[in-house]
Formats: sequence, C-alpha cells, structure tokens
Amino acid sequence: MYRKTFTALLVAGLALSSSGLPAEAGNKPTDNPSAHAFDNKVIKKINVDNMYNNIAKLSAQPREAGTEGEYNAVQYIKSQFEQLGYETELQPFTFPEWDGGDSSILLNDQVFDGGVHTFSGSVNGNVTAPLVYVGLGSTEEVSNDVEGKIALIERGSYSFYDKIQHVLDKGAVGVIMFNGDGNTGYQFGSAYEGQDIPAVAISREDGLKLVNRLENENVTATVNVENAGNVDKTSYNVIAKKKPHPNKDTGQITMIGAHHDSVHGGPGANDDASGVSAVLELARIMAKTPTDTELRFVTFGAEEKGLVGSYHYASTLSEEEVEKTVAHFQLDMIGSRDAGDLIMFTPDGEKNLVTDFGAAAGARISEVVEYGQLGRSDHVPFFERGIPAALFIHAPLEPWYHSPDDTLDKISKEKLQEVAEIVGAAVYQIARPDTPALENARVAPGPVDYEYDDRPL
Ligand SMILES: [Zn+2]
Repeated sequence: MYRKTFTALLVAGLALSSSGLPAEAGNKPTDNPSAHAFDNKVIKKINVDNMYNNIAKLSAQPREAGTEGEYNAVQYIKSQFEQLGYETELQPFTFPEWDGGDSSILLNDQVFDGGVHTFSGSVNGNVTAPLVYVGLGSTEEVSNDVEGKIALIERGSYSFYDKIQHVLDKGAVGVIMFNGDGNTGYQFGSAYEGQDIPAVAISREDGLKLVNRLENENVTATVNVENAGNVDKTSYNVIAKKKPHPNKDTGQITMIGAHHDSVHGGPGANDDASGVSAVLELARIMAKTPTDTELRFVTFGAEEKGLVGSYHYASTLSEEEVEKTVAHFQLDMIGSRDAGDLIMFTPDGEKNLVTDFGAAAGARISEVVEYGQLGRSDHVPFFERGIPAALFIHAPLEPWYHSPDDTLDKISKEKLQEVAEIVGAAVYQIARPDTPALENARVAPGPVDYEYDDRPL
C-alpha cells in the first residue's frame, strides 16, 4: 500500500444504490455458507502454512525497492514459480531515487558539529551569509530583513514548501531548519521545484542553541550541499504465466498480483509479503489445475515508490493483451490480525467484474464482501488501461502499517486463509474449463447483492 496519493472518497449518494439485480438474485447465503464443488477444487488445496512460511522468509529482511533485500526476495519468488513449473520472467525497470549527497554547515567559519541532513529536492550550492532566525517562517514572521541572508526556521504549523517559499520570496539565499517541538532526529524536509536555494535540516536541540546564540552575537553561516540529486535504481517485476488447456482456450487472461517490495527499513510482513504469499499459493494450486484462461501471477517492485513496477508492467502490455485481460486481482495487506475486515477497492468506486466475482465468491465461502473507492496500490495502472481491476485489502489498516513493527507475529492465518479462498474461488470461477468464455457464460451461482462501504483506511 502506497502512502502518497490520497484518492478522495466518492461523494455520498453516487454509490450506495443496490446492484440493480432482481430481488431473487440478491441472495446472501451467509447463514449457511457452503462452497460449491468447483470452489472446493481450489480452496480445499490451500495450505495456509505454506503462506505463513513464505511470509516468514520474505519478512526476514526489509525489501525496499532497489536494495539487495528486494533483489533477494525477487530471486526467491522467481525460484518458487520455477519450481512449480511456470515460465517465469524477471522484468527490470528503473526509478529515480533521491540521494542527499553531502551537506555541511559552517558557523563563523567553524565547522558545525551536529548532524546535517539535505532536504529532499534541495539544489546543490554553497552560500555564505548572515544567519537570521524567522520563527516558524510564516509570512508575518519573515520580513524584508531576510534578503541576502540564510534563514533559520523552526519546523511546524506550515508546510516545508510554504516555509521555504516565504523566505525565498523575501530574497533569502539558504535555509537551515530545525525540528519542531516533539520531533526527534534531523532527517526530514522537502524542497520543491523552483525553490533553488540550498536547504538543510538539523536537530531541535542544535536549532534551539543557535537561536540562543543569535540573541547574543551575529553569526555568519555557510550552507553547503553537494552531490545531491536523483540516481537511477533498478527494481524488478516477477511474472509467471500459465497457459490454458490447448483445447479449451477462451483467449482470455486473468491476472493475480501483489507487491514484493517493502518500505525502507520495514520487514513488510503484512505489506505486502502477505499478498505475495497468496499469489505463490494460488500459483501452486493452479499449476496442477486445468483452466480455460491464461493466468498471470505477478509480483511488482517499487509499489512503495509510487506504483512504479505495476505502471511499468501495464505499459508493456500490448493492446491485444489488454483486450484479452478480463480481470486483475490485486492482493495488498491481507493478513494482519489487527486490521479490519476484507474490502474490495476500485479506483473509481464503481463495481466491476472483479468485485462481482469477489463478492460472489465471498458469499459462497464466508460472507459477501463489500466494495469501496481507493487507489494507492497496483490495481490502478490496470484500471487506467481499461482492465477490470480491484484491490483486496483489510480496512481499517493496522496501526503498525509502514513501521518496523509490521512483523510475522502479527499475521493471522485465519485472515490469510479467508482471502486466499475468496480470491482463489473468484479466479477459478473465471478460469475453470467447464464453462464457456466469460462474456457468454452464465457462471453459477448467480450474482449477489453487495454494498458500497466508505469505511476509512
Ligand atoms: Zn505499503
């Protein structure tokens, strides 16, 4: 699950209507859940211990995209697919990553001995000028006096962008920012395009000392930032394909995806080793199950860097492949004992073929699954190419999302099992060889009524 892009929730009133199905089709066999025989061909074979063990292996080290940890995970996933007999491809791609280079500060020609961090997006430069304290850097606090000077700013109340822009507008030549009350460390800060003065961060303790010093003496500061900039990193998608039975080929493709990268320093047991474990387990089962649909099991890299791997993979699909792809199931964060219930998200908050099949499978196996609106994961690029796509996730999220505490001990086997069953049954309802191609099929059982849910993440 990617943090940066927040999709607005669908406006009330647009999405809460019923499915428009006739009343008798709205059967919710939740009181008496019973999987059909064809579901059992898949769900009886799910071995949740396999999933749990794969999460253990993958979460043994962080898997940030572009690092050795990710590469090890990629090799492991590839080897797993190959052991199952799949034709497996590693698809490399590059993405830009910020490198702060080297930054330093001089105060009256003496080297400042505290930690100095380059703001992400800062320009390189070496400026020497009087240092002036401008409080929180609001427009009221920043006077014309800052012209030609280096601004010392306290973090808090306003965005990094606004603080830098306010002093830049008054002619400042550099920025030193210190942490606000309650913040720790000194590794923070972003500058933006056009804010072309060097900007660095220091700790709160060091910043308060400087404020004190400025009350007693004039200080000339030098801010030096060098070798900062974006560097290209390489990440990978892992793609395993299963051809349909030659006599039964409907010409259709269904994809099942998860992302194997984690955030920096995070073990990512739930985010998203859990999704990868389900992709691997369904691949294991489907390897020996005849289907009439091509299945693609894909794990994406650099999801946490902004859905980079999935955008890359979606961009490599030909028009013909897009035309043939009837469904993309994305599994992200499907095993936390501390998260809420399963929900299916689409980028536009509308139902589609994937949510229809997911809801129906849920109704057969445990309970009907609701749907809602969210981007922020690898279903988005496929949706944007016109492929029916949905994200399967538990909401609200667990509190340790994107933290070093996203560890194996908080994984629920029950949750893993339930999601693997529902997605496995939905995929098999599309791919089972005893039905015609999807558009002609009256695939049993009938559709179910399922509701829009605007529960927060
Ligand atoms: Zn995430």
